[in-house]
Amino acid sequence: MKLQDSYKSFEEFESSFRVYKDVNFVDFFIKDCKTLTSINAKFPNGRMMTASSDLKYYYIKFCCVHGGCYKKKKTLDQRSTSTMRQGCDAGIYLKASDDGKSLVITKMTEDHNHEVSKILYDHLPNQRKITPENKATVLELMDLKANKKMIQHKIMNESGKIVTLKDLSNIHTTGRNNDSKNNLVEVVNKLKTKFNCIVEISTDESNNLNGVFIQDRFMTESFEAFPEVVFADATYKLLDLRLPVYVLMTEDGNGQSEIAAIGLLVNEEEVTLRWFFETFKKKNPISAQTRVYVTDKDMKERNVISKWFCPRCRGDRPNKIKPKA
Ligand SMILES: [Zn+2]
Repeated sequence: MKLQDSYKSFEEFESSFRVYKDVNFVDFFIKDCKTLTSINAKFPNGRMMTASSDLKYYYIKFCCVHGGCYKKKKTLDQRSTSTMRQGCDAGIYLKASDDGKSLVITKMTEDHNHEVSKILYDHLPNQRKITPENKATVLELMDLKANKKMIQHKIMNESGKIVTLKDLSNIHTTGRNNDSKNNLVEVVNKLKTKFNCIVEISTDESNNLNGVFIQDRFMTESFEAFPEVVFADATYKLLDLRLPVYVLMTEDGNGQSEIAAIGLLVNEEEVTLRWFFETFKKKNPISAQTRVYVTDKDMKERNVISKWFCPRCRGDRPNKIKPKA
């Protein structure tokens, strides 16, 4: 790319500009521009009326990202921000040719007043931008409360780009709209209509939520097919609300685990746990055939199950509830 180079379209210029930036480790921002549309609106009889629309711009001026200076507004309490502006004069000026057939580089300054290197270039914000797919991965992993350093490592490996921990936080906070989060009515409706789930809600006397029982068709069918053994376990850091998520599982003929029901419980009081297991029994008459419940050895529901549900042990044989290895 050099002075007087001409391009048949802005797209063509952009692709060689991208190569130029990557090879020379310099980045630019659009300092000023005028589109063909706006110049033609202003001069309806002007010579640019016949210009090729692929040019897009009548003129466009790029400046080095370190160009210009940062004017601090004179307001108090302004939060401190960093700036990359350091008065670099490098830039490129592109103008539509008189015949309107090409964009021509009419000015080009390549003297940078700062160090230019690959490392510095890779750390510039434009180069740190990641693809929507990577962004989705970040959001998913951040939601799962994965270690940020590990996410950073993964994304950097996959994209070959520098990604800072701050970038990850920014993606997480701006990447989602949190409007309908934690709207119980909406969630229950969605589960019922969209996913055809059986949903039961438990509330206390003052109408506070105690727990949610969820079971979809696949869960019901899995349990009907393999009701003999039920595994129960809770996981804690799955939801933003930090509600314990209770998972009841069965083992199918292939030795694979199948989810039989899900419970979101606000607390692990005996009454709440009892409600959850009772709902499970009520909604699944086949549970009369359950012979063994398997739980964690320190799980609070061991008491509940042995007291109320352990088939055949009638409370006097709690060893029927086997701890997981
Ligand atoms: Zn520069």
